[in-house]
Amino acid sequence: MKISFLGATKIVTGSNFLVETKNTKFLIDCGMFQGSKSINRMNYEPFRFNPKEIDFMVLSHAHIDHSGRVPKLIKEGFKGDIYSTKATVDLCSIMLPDSGHIQEMENEWDNRKRRRSGEKLREPLYTLKEAEESLRYFKPVLYDQKIELNEEVTLRFRDAGHILGSSIIELWIKEEEGKETKLVFSGDLGRRDRPILKDPYLIDEADYLIVESTYGNKLHHPSEDDTKELISIINTTVKRGGNVVIPSFAVERAQDIIYELNKYYTAYIKTEDQDFLNVPVYVDSPLTVSATEIFLRNPDCFDEDTLNLINIGNNPLDFYNLKYTRTVEESRQLNISKESKVIISASGMCTAGRIKHHLKHNLWRKESSIVFVGYQAKGTLGRRIKEGEKVVKIFGEEIQVNAEICSLEGFSGHADREGIIQWIKSFKNKPKKIFVVHGEEDAIEEVSKKIKEELNIITHIPELGESLSIEGESVLPGGRLEIDRRSKEFREIEENIEKVKSIFLPTFQRLEYGANSGTNSEKLNNIKNKLIEIQKDILDLNMLLADSKKRGK
Ligand SMILES: [Zn+2]
Repeated sequence: MKISFLGATKIVTGSNFLVETKNTKFLIDCGMFQGSKSINRMNYEPFRFNPKEIDFMVLSHAHIDHSGRVPKLIKEGFKGDIYSTKATVDLCSIMLPDSGHIQEMENEWDNRKRRRSGEKLREPLYTLKEAEESLRYFKPVLYDQKIELNEEVTLRFRDAGHILGSSIIELWIKEEEGKETKLVFSGDLGRRDRPILKDPYLIDEADYLIVESTYGNKLHHPSEDDTKELISIINTTVKRGGNVVIPSFAVERAQDIIYELNKYYTAYIKTEDQDFLNVPVYVDSPLTVSATEIFLRNPDCFDEDTLNLINIGNNPLDFYNLKYTRTVEESRQLNISKESKVIISASGMCTAGRIKHHLKHNLWRKESSIVFVGYQAKGTLGRRIKEGEKVVKIFGEEIQVNAEICSLEGFSGHADREGIIQWIKSFKNKPKKIFVVHGEEDAIEEVSKKIKEELNIITHIPELGESLSIEGESVLPGGRLEIDRRSKEFREIEENIEKVKSIFLPTFQRLEYGANSGTNSEKLNNIKNKLIEIQKDILDLNMLLADSKKRGK
């Protein structure tokens, strides 16, 4: 078996791994690169494999950095099934079209600039329509069910406790009779005792493990402390007449905050002082509203506490002063009205969506607070604000950062260093080797070091494009997959030549065999003439190429 690491190597985003067995080629995740301009551009580069040759894909969860390049994959010829849990399919059905819409809008914005400066216009990565069409390739699968995908590959999803529908992927690869290798991909690993979701499933064994390390250099404090701090930030901000703006991922982080606030307000409503209940909490993100509906449609993913709340009639994703807004007009009103409020809005890393408007209207106000509750990738607007930039550009306008900037990592949906190490410790049969991915360099290094020290397991930190050959006990370098920069037309010609070869050779053999049996000579002459024409075209092309080479010198 050969594994190629094609994303989330020494960075957090772009999760994408290619597994090749004797007769099968499949992908684990096909996520979007997110961050600085140069990282974003990586999404537009050709895949390092031919999408038409991929038999199927296995998707760990719906977050865009794991699923966001699926429509591009299909646009470029992938025709297989995409296996994921039902909740992941449900979430992708809103998140991918939303991403397509963002791609179109941003592309239009960029093209306007290009038009003005006379540059060549670009196509969006994919459109809303292409994203919608990609949904029919999804195949929902249950947690805990072992599924034989073909003679070589068997799959099982286990709950990763990271977001609704998120999974740890177990794969059994059988290339030879009697020889089986078990590969486990942690996906994004959640935390124990988080609201709504079950704890990450403890895996028994693996021969090889690919593990994430997003918060590998951090230790989270308990989330109860962060809830208390959030409440205190809301109180002080409201007292000084400002707004609390919470950039939040539409899936899970937003619902976690709503869940925690619901718990708090449910307790608070019984007390004397009711003033606090007048502070409205707005969820201003159509995607979050839709995602919340999907949560309520997938209660089988909930933990016991959440199910108990539902059983006593307390909807954990709703409370007295919570308001969901959908229309643009409702969203605008939030910035016109003077009353203090809490605004939960997406995108989580402030790269797109309504959050940018709320930041524009609140960052300059010293009365307001911005509260980060999730991971901010390097180079994103969120990361720059979090790291203390004093002036940021939003919609081409320079905005002063005067608001109070807070960060509550306790809401994170990722295991911290201790969580990752404890999870690996729970394997009864430890992996022979662990590949550490999905983290910035410091985080990856630290997890890798801890695994070696505490578990005595060899680790490897893959580079982008690196391939490894796994045979039984040994892991050997398997080269590098480079980006195929040849033009689309060129690749199409190459594919067609291969096709013609495969049709022509058997036919030719048969022709030789029955040379004298009166084969239709008119048809043969036709083919001969066409071949001569192609020959002429190729000679012309060669002359052209030789010419341009001379001129180049
Ligand atoms: Zn995730």
